[in-house]
Amino acid sequence: MNLSGELKQLLSSEFVSALEIISQKADDFGVRVFIIGGVVRDLLLGKNIYDVDLVVEGNAIEFCKFIEAENCCNIERISPDFGTAKITLKQFKNLSLDFASTRTEKYPKKGHLPVVDKIGCTLLEDIKRRDFSVNALALSINKNDFGLLIDYTDGVKDIEKKELKILHDNSFIDDPTRIIRGLRFAYKLDFKLEKNTQILQKEYLQHFNNNDICYERIKQVVKLAFSLNSTELYNEFINSKIYKLITAAPFLKDGFCIKKAVEKNKKLIPNENIWLVYLSCCINLEDTEKLNLNSKELSIFKELNRLKHNKVKINSNYDIYNQFNNVPMESIVAYLAITQDNSAQIYIDNLMNITPAINGNDLIELGFERGRIIGQVIEKIKEEKINGNIKNKEDEFLLAKKIMSEFYN
Ligand code: ATP
Ligand code: MG
Repeated sequence: MNLSGELKQLLSSEFVSALEIISQKADDFGVRVFIIGGVVRDLLLGKNIYDVDLVVEGNAIEFCKFIEAENCCNIERISPDFGTAKITLKQFKNLSLDFASTRTEKYPKKGHLPVVDKIGCTLLEDIKRRDFSVNALALSINKNDFGLLIDYTDGVKDIEKKELKILHDNSFIDDPTRIIRGLRFAYKLDFKLEKNTQILQKEYLQHFNNNDICYERIKQVVKLAFSLNSTELYNEFINSKIYKLITAAPFLKDGFCIKKAVEKNKKLIPNENIWLVYLSCCINLEDTEKLNLNSKELSIFKELNRLKHNKVKINSNYDIYNQFNNVPMESIVAYLAITQDNSAQIYIDNLMNITPAINGNDLIELGFERGRIIGQVIEKIKEEKINGNIKNKEDEFLLAKKIMSEFYN
């Protein structure tokens, strides 16, 4: 199969020209260069491509140095340990290309980060270290076979069958993050796990040992998966027991309420934090320990935990305000999803932005002395405003005067 037509259709003309330059240089240097991985999958699925991963069968850094010596590109970054290089072509200043060397990997500690075993192996060996057959396709860009599809693992057939198939039976043991990658691809591509892959995943989730998991990596893939803001994905995470990778007992079993709460309050949560709402609806504060969250992420779990457990008696809007004031929005939305407690939505819709119009200077002009009393009066005015007892600045002044007369007499 040759995909040069798809390449021209789904890549920008600038990108195609850049590939043609690389194609010529690959022939001049005498190496085989391929587009590799998910990009080829997306080409076959007819998706527009904005970035390509390239692999050099051999040493990518030496190849990039050759192109640079020919005055065609600038090398932006190299990482010798992995044999990768990032370049920009002189002709297309805004376009950068990522090159990897073909490599094999070993897992000295199963489930943890692999180490590079050999740089410059064959394409086939490089393909074998990948996760799913649909992500293990390569497309030659050498001149004599530009666009030729190389499919060692029946990836094309699996794309047609809409199936995700791992490449060997130890795949999840080597790298359990693939389970969550699979979940993400299943949802994103509307694919299903192939039968044997399904069995091996189930087996892994029944018998794995916590020490064989690198939670740092799990966090990264969970983040990508939950960022898709999907009820179906969350429910599959629960129903397939993938949650076991991070918690013994998931808190919320149905993602419907999470999505509903997120959608209703979407403008208040940065896109990059949506995953934290899903995660905090799923795992407990104690589960976060192993995930190595940063302090901001952790505070979302701590505050949610406080909301869940320190139930305060609510007698007024001001009580609601105090329950949620200064709590991260992600915690409030997760709390809403978990408890369906409408006071959280009342806080967001009606209370959180209420502030007195009157300020400290106004109070001093009225005759208050500087000091703690100013803050206390402002807070009292805020309380009355939140409780709906006063409406405008005039009311605020009247209340301030009343407090002053009581306070100084
Ligand atoms: P996306 O469109 O989500 O970026 P992708 O397939 O390009 O999907 P990447 O995470 O960008 O995924 O990885 C690029 C390629 O690297 C994959 O297609 C796959 O071949 C390989 N890969 C990435 N992560 C793993 C992994 N954990 N195990 C094996 N191979 C992996
Ligand atoms: Mg990618």
